[in-house]
Amino acid sequence: MHALISDLQRRVALWRVEHAEVASAAHQVNLSRTRTVAPLVAVINGVFVLWLAVSLLSRQDSDLVTQWKLGLFLTHLLMGLSFGLMAWGAWHLRYARDHWMGASLPLLMACLSLVFVVGFVTFDQWVSPNITPFLTGAMATSLVLYLRPGTSAVLFASAYGLFAYAIGHTQQDAALLLSNRLNGLAAVAMAWALSVLLWRKFTVITRQQTLLEKINVDLETKQRELQRLTRLDGLTGLYNRSTFAELTRQELARAQRQGSATAILLLDLDLFKHVNDTWGHPAGDAVLKNVATVANSAVRATDLVGRLGGEEFIILLPNTSLDAARRLAEKLRAHMQQSPTPWEKSSITTTVSIGVASTTAAQQHDFDHLYGTADKALYSAKALGRNRVV
Ligand code: GH3
Ligand code: MG
Ligand code: MG
Repeated sequence: MHALISDLQRRVALWRVEHAEVASAAHQVNLSRTRTVAPLVAVINGVFVLWLAVSLLSRQDSDLVTQWKLGLFLTHLLMGLSFGLMAWGAWHLRYARDHWMGASLPLLMACLSLVFVVGFVTFDQWVSPNITPFLTGAMATSLVLYLRPGTSAVLFASAYGLFAYAIGHTQQDAALLLSNRLNGLAAVAMAWALSVLLWRKFTVITRQQTLLEKINVDLETKQRELQRLTRLDGLTGLYNRSTFAELTRQELARAQRQGSATAILLLDLDLFKHVNDTWGHPAGDAVLKNVATVANSAVRATDLVGRLGGEEFIILLPNTSLDAARRLAEKLRAHMQQSPTPWEKSSITTTVSIGVASTTAAQQHDFDHLYGTADKALYSAKALGRNRVV
């Protein structure tokens, strides 16, 4: 028994947390349903008001029937007017689901619906023992609005109290009164059970939807990250060979349309094998990263820096003539020499040889041609003694 109670307490505590998570979504659905249902109910009540008005004016009924029709007429009139007002309110509060007014309006609609159906049933007792309006009203409230179990329990219990009290004034037959009170109790119990079932279903579905949306966002982020990683070199974070070639082809096409010159610089570290042999491969990797940083900081934001592989780097210079590219290459070469890589308690100085190639829009050289020319120039720079620009 004790275990059962503590299990129940755990479950209620868990439900509380889950219900708080979906509260805002429930307010949104309730508010939008209020916006649809309230005007419909107002119009239906308008029709009843007209019908009852015509019936009251044109027929000579007994006093009791006239009294019954008058009761219904006034209740429908009040219900039509209040639902009309609520329809107007729901329209104005359509974006205020998290405002207390937006969250309270559907609850007000539920309360008023139950008050009015109690009114109908109470007047009905003068001419008939049926309580169908009460059953229908309670079920409709459960179906239309998502209410927390605690809220709906208070709502239906209060409605039942009002119902049992009110029909006591109009139902004179003690047996029928008892029967109606029992049936009314069954009606609210069923309506409450239905309300709890629907609310739980809504909670589970909404939480799953939220989870799915979150997973989707995570997946998209990972996919973007994956795309980024396939485009970049893992060690230096520079563009890798294929991305660089693709971006250069696009840039060359743009330069040809605009009639501007384009240059590329091909960099190769001098005697890098010696660095690895002397300091070890991790030190060699640190040098490669340092070269990437120095190269990136020496060029303009519109220039592209890539790593072709090994200790070879490539830089694309849009809108740059051969002379300007050579000047920049010389500046870069000197900068590299003056930017040693800190390693352990020492530092490693490396130099680069640079091959330069360029094309004007008229020449229309493509990427492969530029790369081939720069490679030959680089070979010459190495042959001439390294640490130079050709
Ligand atoms: P040269 O001046 O003629 O270019 O001499 P070099 O020693 O730089 O040329 P070589 O092509 O003989 O050596 C390149 C070296 O670069 C060989 C290889 O071990 C090293 N290397 C290539 N990729 C990496 C890397 O990712 N990390 C490290 N640490 N070394 C690399
Ligand atoms: Mg090399
Ligand atoms: Mg080298």
